[in-house]
Amino acid sequence: MIDLSKYTKELSNLFSSSENILLISHINPDGDAIGSQLALYYFLKTKGKNVSMLAPNYLQEFLKWMEGADHINIFLKERNKCKKLIKEADLIVLLDFNQSNRLGEAEDLVIASSARKLIIDHHLDPANFADLIISDPLKCSTSELVYELICNINGAPFLTKSYAEALYVGIVTDTGNFEHGAYSSRTFRIVADLLDCGIDKSKILNLIYNNFSADRIRLQGYALNTRMVVIPEYKTAYIFLTKNDLAEYKHIKGDTEGFVNLPLSIKGICFSALFIEKENFIKISFRSKGNFPSNEIASKYFSGGGHLNASGGEYYDSLTNTIDFFLKVLKENIRKFDE
Ligand code: 5GP
Ligand code: MN
Repeated sequence: MIDLSKYTKELSNLFSSSENILLISHINPDGDAIGSQLALYYFLKTKGKNVSMLAPNYLQEFLKWMEGADHINIFLKERNKCKKLIKEADLIVLLDFNQSNRLGEAEDLVIASSARKLIIDHHLDPANFADLIISDPLKCSTSELVYELICNINGAPFLTKSYAEALYVGIVTDTGNFEHGAYSSRTFRIVADLLDCGIDKSKILNLIYNNFSADRIRLQGYALNTRMVVIPEYKTAYIFLTKNDLAEYKHIKGDTEGFVNLPLSIKGICFSALFIEKENFIKISFRSKGNFPSNEIASKYFSGGGHLNASGGEYYDSLTNTIDFFLKVLKENIRKFDE
């Protein structure tokens, strides 16, 4: 575990010496990206800073309800405004990612900006594109990391209701409601603090997990029934969805979230993949149980990365060729299933 107190002074100086602070989450932002972004926003606002938020592309439906989410500027929607924010920032904080390509179309502008850059993240192997990198892969979420860092800067837990709600969303979504990931006894102590702020945990869980359209639930049934392939000899199962499948079930962004976890509940399956056909590439999500390094498969073969048990990537070929390639990859890595 990293001693985060070593960053307190540098981080305090960085924040206090900056006027225009821009917080950026990653492309296809998840609950942890948005949760950590909003929490840091609320904290810095109380310090009288001029703080703005940017996301490379649109938020998923299940996050749009979050207080302050409508203050997040979407690069794909408001390019000029976002370019201005990047240009005017003297500090850019990058949350929940550590590879610059996760900035999407904003990548070149952010890299070229003269602002100081700070990464706060919990993924393995950060790329070196910031002035300060605070990375702790033993934290369950960037939100947990933000909680600890702000505690240190503030000299005590900073606890307001909207701040607590944002961090709670980050922790819940990155652990699948405390089912997977690097959560610890410390995580539960932090969550106890957040709950003591008076957040409504049932309301939040319903907004995140019980807020689907009927079409989405039907798409899930179709995916499991018709598009799931189980390969017991590789302890693997995968699901694929074509563009037509998605259109038929009136798919909207975020509808396939969570599908990749489902095959892991099959006895004996320790690796799961979800292939989604996009316009000119295949988006892939991986999940694993135990020691199987899903992130190694993602980074070595599918231009991606992530955590040991949750990762993703992409492949620029047809769906059929991508799955054929995946099956070859499984064969090559069969040893890893026994480790
Ligand atoms: P998901 O499957 O939920 O989209 O992504 C799970 C995790 O895998 C993300 O939190 C992120 O760490 C990682 N990930 C997903 N897609 C990519 C990708 O294209 N590139 C990289 N570097 N990581 C990814
Ligand atoms: Mn995260």
